[in-house]
Amino acid sequence: MNRVKRRTMSLLSLVLIIAMGLSFYVYRYAVHGREWASFTSNKAVFSQGQLMVGTVCDRNGAVLATVDDGRRIYNEDPVIRRSTLHAVGDQYGNIGTGALSVFAPELIGYDPVNGAYTPDRKGGKVRLSIDSGLNAAAYEAMDGRKGVVAVENYETGEIVCMLSSYNYDPYYPPEDVSTPEYEGVYLNRFLSAAYTPGSTFKLVTLTAALERIPDLFDRTFECRGSVEIDGEYVTCTGTHGEIDINEALAVSCNCVFAELAVELGGDTLERYANDLGLTGSIKVSGIKTASGNYDKAADGSVDLAWSGIGQYNDSVNPAAMLRFVSGIANGGTAEEQTLLYGKSSGSDRIMKTSTAETIAKMMNYNVYYTYGEDNYPGLELCAKSGTAEVGGGADPHALFVGFIRDEKHPYAFVVIVENGGSGSRTAGRVANAVLQAAVNK
Ligand SMILES: [Zn+2]
Repeated sequence: MNRVKRRTMSLLSLVLIIAMGLSFYVYRYAVHGREWASFTSNKAVFSQGQLMVGTVCDRNGAVLATVDDGRRIYNEDPVIRRSTLHAVGDQYGNIGTGALSVFAPELIGYDPVNGAYTPDRKGGKVRLSIDSGLNAAAYEAMDGRKGVVAVENYETGEIVCMLSSYNYDPYYPPEDVSTPEYEGVYLNRFLSAAYTPGSTFKLVTLTAALERIPDLFDRTFECRGSVEIDGEYVTCTGTHGEIDINEALAVSCNCVFAELAVELGGDTLERYANDLGLTGSIKVSGIKTASGNYDKAADGSVDLAWSGIGQYNDSVNPAAMLRFVSGIANGGTAEEQTLLYGKSSGSDRIMKTSTAETIAKMMNYNVYYTYGEDNYPGLELCAKSGTAEVGGGADPHALFVGFIRDEKHPYAFVVIVENGGSGSRTAGRVANAVLQAAVNK
């Protein structure tokens, strides 16, 4: 009896050990199988570094890239090919953040049962969140200038438009990318660049001021065209006279925001820049974005003043800026951004609902007071412009960020036109063209 029991026990332990080993293997296979299948040395799906299976579609099902007869085929419209270049990726893997690279496992159609191939051997299909028609509208509106146009559905986190400019037709890649025209052309500027935010950063200083200065709305400020801070001058864009905080944002008064920055102090501004997600790297469908930067200058210094109005050493990644304004639009909650069709899985509260609502109202007032409602027909627009000095005698970058209040079209946007001059004039016009295309579909 004892012997039988012993044997049973040892057999049982053997079975248990095998089961454990097997489950470990199954676990490893399930976790890493996707990576193993999508190694570029996997000859079945890659040819000279090119992914030779899978189809990339836009949110409406338009085919942006597929494979036919062993060749990579792109959309037939050259404007769509160019405008979706960075979203889709090129044939040679130079654009590392394109769908052909990032979503390779899904395009290969890997699944744990069938291995690397889907049964029909055509690979998988990836449906992006972007609308290629909006990308084309953004491309036309940018008219060959460098920069970024991005639109997000702030209720779902889906990026519905993502244009990085300059770009090229993937059928005719440039032979020499060292010319100024092609500077940084393989980078998706939306994900992988960081820009001086200029006056768009006043929204950060405003967020801090709204939450930290109780009598902000009771105050009257005076702008005399410049303000002395620690023996140096911060100059303004005009002489705005006696104004309240609503008008100060609407005319983008440097004097008022410089004084608020000094009053709030470097620690507070740094904390808000961090908490609003503008300094660290964020993830968009698993892709790590470029970090932004906020250097805390000494309390009371003119550098601190400039840092509160988006100059000094400030820089912001466009995706992070879009997430920030989307959070304002969405009542203080920023949805996780996604490049794939369908609502994202998570969200973060970045500010109080009451703060978000106040900022939205003020951004709407900017349009009424300064940017001109007639320039944005039919849109209930909330926006902030920026004209970011970049030095070296070059024209400043033009920025325009914000959102529309529209139940059917809950869109936030970021437009950056490099060396575009005035923010609201240049970048505002691009924003209007793309938003009109989005609303009037
Ligand atoms: Zn002023």
